[in-house]
Amino acid sequence: MKILCVLYDDPKGGMPKSYALSELPKIEKYPDGMTLPSPKGRDYTPGQLLGCVSGELGLRKFLESNGHELVVTNSKDGDGCEADKHIVDADIVISQPFFPYYLTKERIAKAKNLKMAITAGIGSDHVDLQAAMDNKIDVVEVTYCNSRSVAEHIVMMIVSMVRDYHNQHRIVNEGGWNIADAVQRSYDVEGMHIGTVAAGRIGLDALRKMKPFDVHLHYFDRHKLPDSVEKELNLTFHESVESMVKVCDVVTINCPLHPETENLFDDAMISKMKKGAYIVNTARGKICNRDAIAKALKSGQLSGYAGDVWFPQPAPNDHVWRTMPHHGMTPHTSGTSLTAQSRYADGVREILECFFEGKEIRNQYLIVKDGQLAGMGAHSYSKGSATGGSEEAAKYKKK
Ligand code: NDP
Repeated sequence: MKILCVLYDDPKGGMPKSYALSELPKIEKYPDGMTLPSPKGRDYTPGQLLGCVSGELGLRKFLESNGHELVVTNSKDGDGCEADKHIVDADIVISQPFFPYYLTKERIAKAKNLKMAITAGIGSDHVDLQAAMDNKIDVVEVTYCNSRSVAEHIVMMIVSMVRDYHNQHRIVNEGGWNIADAVQRSYDVEGMHIGTVAAGRIGLDALRKMKPFDVHLHYFDRHKLPDSVEKELNLTFHESVESMVKVCDVVTINCPLHPETENLFDDAMISKMKKGAYIVNTARGKICNRDAIAKALKSGQLSGYAGDVWFPQPAPNDHVWRTMPHHGMTPHTSGTSLTAQSRYADGVREILECFFEGKEIRNQYLIVKDGQLAGMGAHSYSKGSATGGSEEAAKYKKK
């Protein structure tokens, strides 16, 4: 079989010769008891860079020794890109949310042999799920592999943004010492009202991780959490996003991107937020309206916006979120720490092993199966597509 794998660029200076840590902490299980990915074999050392082109998700030996062809590329956008040349006869495509190969309806129409799209991570909105369903292409992702990595990033962003860390760090780097400049936008998180849109794996973990800051916790989700969890974290449930954002100082967004959540934070929603609130969005860029966010930061309706997700990705060089005031954006990194990479590489290998051996892929990994939303997909997504406008990714020029 032919496997097309689209991965992000190698480090500018080439692959690392050594790593900061010589080993990763051992984690046995996820908090709900779900087991970590457990492939039969592994041809890499956990902690190595696996998500970039030369890392190859550690798959080459495994695939080639089983008679398969592996094509790895970072050329994924614009007419004539490498990925488009190979999608026409690929059986499986692997892509990452960090550097998505947008599997649009047009690309799916050309992919005559395609049987499965694997997301090396979580969030399969870069695939036109409707077209995948219509063309009986299965879509799977590595549920839970980096959810806790993202929750850590959320905590980092909430605390650093509210305390205005970036400004203070910049002052030091520039040789300065003006404390008044450094603290004029700096607050304590303690006592604030923090709310999450969606309390799934990431949202709930972010709430748990914020609890020791002595804050008031809120959530909105389509399904209520068990009473025991609400009690443990002293959570306030809201029937609507609007009701929650009215009372929150910080809103963190943790739902998948699908037609129901696209553009959820537009001018109207932001105008209902508490004045001067902060948003942390590590879910997907398209859940927030690009111009509405920039406008609200300029007017002061929002005090800060942080996250690591953009639309499209890579973000065009002139994307307004790169330059808007009081932002704490990173490139899409929260789910691709070296720790997370080994988990999603293991997960991809487990999925491939199952596929080649004709075994069932874990139900938790399924988004689309046999032309229908299935598994996690049936629970968390809605029908349709959220890939519109992704061709703009071709505008990004490497620096
Ligand atoms: P989960 O499936 O565990 O959680 C998703 C939650 O979103 C579920 O509780 C689901 O609710 C809820 N949800 C779905 N639609 C809506 C809606 N319309 N309104 C409110 N809630 C909704 O996934 P994770 O927590 O692991 O991941 C969530 C998302 O985070 C991913 O889909 C991805 O987009 C993003 N992500 C980002 C990463 C990064 O690197 N920045 C890495 C990993 C994920 P219910 O099930 O109750 O219907």
